[in-house]
Amino acid sequence: EGDYDLLELTEDFPDGQFFLPALPVLAIVGRPNVGKSALVNRILGRREAVVEDVPGVTRDRVSYKAEWAGRRFTLVDTGGWEPDARGIDAAVAAQAEVAIDLADVVLFVVDANVGATATDEHVVRLLRRAKKPVFLAANKVDDTRQEPNAAALWSLGLGEPYPVSALHGRGVADLLDVIMAKMPEVSAVAKQEVGGPRRVAILGRPNVGKSSLLNKAAGEERVVVNELAGTTRDPVDEQIELAGKVWTFVDTAGIRKRVHLQQGADFYASLRTAAALEKAEVAVVVLDVTEPISTQDLRIIDLVLESGRALVLAFNKWDLLDDERRRYLEREIEQDLHHVTWAPRVNISARTGRHLEKLVPALETALDSWDTRIPTGKFNAFLTELVAAHPHPVRGGKQPRILFGTQAATRPPTFVLFTTGFLDPGYRRFIQRRLREVYGFQGTPIITNMRVRE
Ligand code: GDP
Repeated sequence: EGDYDLLELTEDFPDGQFFLPALPVLAIVGRPNVGKSALVNRILGRREAVVEDVPGVTRDRVSYKAEWAGRRFTLVDTGGWEPDARGIDAAVAAQAEVAIDLADVVLFVVDANVGATATDEHVVRLLRRAKKPVFLAANKVDDTRQEPNAAALWSLGLGEPYPVSALHGRGVADLLDVIMAKMPEVSAVAKQEVGGPRRVAILGRPNVGKSSLLNKAAGEERVVVNELAGTTRDPVDEQIELAGKVWTFVDTAGIRKRVHLQQGADFYASLRTAAALEKAEVAVVVLDVTEPISTQDLRIIDLVLESGRALVLAFNKWDLLDDERRRYLEREIEQDLHHVTWAPRVNISARTGRHLEKLVPALETALDSWDTRIPTGKFNAFLTELVAAHPHPVRGGKQPRILFGTQAATRPPTFVLFTTGFLDPGYRRFIQRRLREVYGFQGTPIITNMRVRE
């Protein structure tokens, strides 16, 4: 409790520049046990403690907001799951591939005390093919005596190995300094071209009908080719014309490609989802109405909320829905999706094409909300009225007051409230509900941050 560092937000985004530019992305790749997690924690430091009002934030995260020397970036940890010995090559290759798609800069971590293994060399070949800056961290160099181990990694051909100790912090600052010098100001991956085609991610667990939807939308039945080693890769994004307008569907290669990892498939899927979200402005989460809403579906929705992207829910396979299942579905929606009642819902059939035309208006609504800006005067009038009608409850003889509020950013709408004390989470939710009642915001998450004045 106390001070939230989000005042910076308002300072960074003065009037006239209201959306958050896409942060550049640093992805960390490496074999299990080389110390990726330790390095991630070291880079994040205590920054993780930022309070954000995002409901249902996921447990197993893959991407984090980080900051170094005053510059913000997204840190993606591709190694959140550790395969057994047999699966390592496939797993690390899959992680490297996602990192290459997603990142502006890749940090490859090797255990200096083990040296370069065949797996490491395999990953290096993959990384070399990508035209992206790659840095080599030689980890576990806890003191100078181990530095020759780091130097031995010149043999990988990735240039200078930077000796670091993720555990003790040794060398990490120097490494981050050189990385930052290569990091673009704004992500080149998630280009925010104003006026360009809007970027859509189709998300969902396997077999809900993502590729069917994509094919139907594209107006052609494409064959899903198995990704064989050595075959050329699909372009990652596709431009598809819908309702007379061109849209960019991001990371379609991830949808079309069937990855069959014996284990770690869930983690790989999360990674793909995070990668697609990083590039997208709006997500269509596809659900299969013939099956109960699962924890995997909910996790995907959580990832969208956490990413701050706009959200549309597509209930697919409507052609297979019978009356009994329909009753269950309604109950499940009430129980499991009560936190996203604001998301537009379309009931579709990717097979028959039913109601696919409703997707575009839903996307447009969600994106309009995502872009919405409420002028400061109006927002404060809204707050004054709200507080007059429903003052904050008195707690222990004190009643926090809202001094002032402003919308610091759009994409998604992000509000900052300046208060004399910590507002109850319930009261913050109430403010969000009222915001939706008054302004709509259909299809976008809303973030309300607080800045407590002592
Ligand atoms: P993905 O893994 O999410 O890309 O799912 P696919 O598009 O491969 O679809 C999985 C299976 O569901 C395939 O057999 C599809 O033919 C089928 N399917 C997808 N959409 C529909 C639909 O709207 N109705 C019916 N009946 N089947 C569908």
